Amino acid sequence: MKYLNKYRIRRMVLYFCVIAIIFTIILINIPWEDHLAWQLDYDRKRIDVKTIEPNVIEITLSELNEENGYTVNQSLMLINTDYKLDERFEAEIGEYKDTGILMNRCMLESYALLSEAVTSNTADNLYVTSTLRTRNEQETLYKDDPETATLPDASEHQSGLAADVYAKNFAGEAFLKSNAGQFVNTHCHEYGFIIRYPHYGKGETKIRFEPWHIRYVGMPHSDIIYNNKLTLEEYIFSLEENRFYEVGGYIITRQKPENNMIKIPLNCKNYVISNDNTGCYIVTAEII
Ligand SMILES: [Zn+2]
Repeated sequence: MKYLNKYRIRRMVLYFCVIAIIFTIILINIPWEDHLAWQLDYDRKRIDVKTIEPNVIEITLSELNEENGYTVNQSLMLINTDYKLDERFEAEIGEYKDTGILMNRCMLESYALLSEAVTSNTADNLYVTSTLRTRNEQETLYKDDPETATLPDASEHQSGLAADVYAKNFAGEAFLKSNAGQFVNTHCHEYGFIIRYPHYGKGETKIRFEPWHIRYVGMPHSDIIYNNKLTLEEYIFSLEENRFYEVGGYIITRQKPENNMIKIPLNCKNYVISNDNTGCYIVTAEII
């Protein structure tokens, strides 16, 4: 009997050791970004996007301007190694609050709101290391570090639509450990921004988790992307060409122009039209 108990105990210890070794191997093989992402309180609620058939008018691209009540910006441009920036591309640039920091004009107001929200909700302030880069700057970065830097014309920084942000003493990978990093990663979608390279998105984006790189896309796109756990690539191509979608008081449509014309939904306000860099235009409008 005594011998049997000893034998059982030895066997249990052996099982325990094997399980501990397997568990350690699994933990070692999980990338650091997933460890960090698990610490965050992502509160996602799936957003349903339904197809509708609204009344429309056809408008030529040249008529899409402020005078006719349409805001035309670059907010929904997909920029990656498959969809590079055209050599004629010019970022629409503005200065952020007399700081000398240049960003794409369409995100100036939203970045100010996000920055204020970080200050009022956390004890941190949000700082920017890098927003707009010229093609030459991106080329130099790529030549210096082709492993980490993106190819010239494939970097969102050339559009000024992205910002690399940090909190005091918490930059880069450590950003997530700060209150500002936690806030930005779980709330930036409320201000029109997305974490462009999310921890679940490497298969689509080909870029590992960058909790510090925020990208402006505007509302309600940022909300849909965050809540439905998408990448920008997946989101843009989920919008079928020439369909109209209704989501939370907005109409969204992605269209390839025909004879230089696109269809605009009627009975809406605050129209925003952006070229998506895949040959289509995305129209976003609030339903009246
Ligand atoms: Zn970046």
